[in-house]
Amino acid sequence: MSNNRVRKFIPRKKYCRFCADKTLVLDYKRPDILQQFVTERGKIIGRRITGTCAKHQRALTRAIKRARQMALMYYTTVHSTEVKKKTMSI
Ligand SMILES: [Zn+2]
Repeated sequence: MSNNRVRKFIPRKKYCRFCADKTLVLDYKRPDILQQFVTERGKIIGRRITGTCAKHQRALTRAIKRARQMALMYYTTVHSTEVKKKTMSI
């Protein structure tokens, strides 16, 4: 039993990317930007992980939901047999 695991994770200061970069537009017509804030399964990544501020997270959520409605983004990935197999094995 050893408890001295090597810490590979270096905590970096999180910051709101929309506050830092004013050129980064938060818009439902830009799924390329919104895609960076969702998982590969299409879930919106929380504020605690991305570091987005409350104001921008609210706008981001709205933009993502709007983009999904406009079919610019996925609600979820296609449930292929391969994905099913993977989840079945877990
Ligand atoms: Zn912000």
